[in-house]
Formats: sequence, structure tokens, C-alpha cells
Amino acid sequence: MSLKSTSGPAKGLDPTKEERPGPVRTCLGCGKKQPKGLLHRLVLNEKHQPVRDAAQTAPGRGAYLCGPGCLAAAVKRKAFHRAFKQAVELNLNDLEEALRTEA
Ligand SMILES: [Zn+2]
Repeated sequence: MSLKSTSGPAKGLDPTKEERPGPVRTCLGCGKKQPKGLLHRLVLNEKHQPVRDAAQTAPGRGAYLCGPGCLAAAVKRKAFHRAFKQAVELNLNDLEEALRTEA
């Protein structure tokens, strides 16, 4: 008897994800519009904390920031609550640290 796994390929192709010339996103802090690739994508983890989504592929609603310098402004504007449409638990130190890390 063989124990072949038939769970299929680990990585499915997403037909909605294609290379387009310029998806642009707005930074939560300064409000500047930039190509998505230049911004840090943030998503909420299971504790409702915004965390950096380095691969920019996590499911769900995302928010974008240029870098750690825009974090404070985004907090002041309550931009996180607006972007995620729910209360968020901000862990500023961790978030700032993550934003300092270049991909
Ligand atoms: Zn910014």
C-alpha cells in the first residue's frame, strides 16, 4: 500500500494576482501616494495588533506606511482604526522596529 499524498501543490496560483505596472497605496502617516512596493504593508495579527507583512501577501485588510517616521503621525490621526475598520492594539515599539527592518 502506498501512502501517496494527494493534497495537491503547496502553492496555488492566484489568478487575481498579476504584475501590474503601478498599484499605488497611500501612507497612513503622511498621506503620500506611493507605489505599493515602496511602502510597508501592515496587517492585523490575531491579537488585533498591526504587524508588518513583509511578503505583502497576508490575507485581509492591509494598511501602508512609508517607514517608522510616519508611524507617530498615523497614530495621531487614528489612521490605523480607520484603515482596519476596527479597534487595534498598537505595539509601537515592535511596530517601529519592524518598520526599520528593510525587506
Ligand atoms: Zn508616510
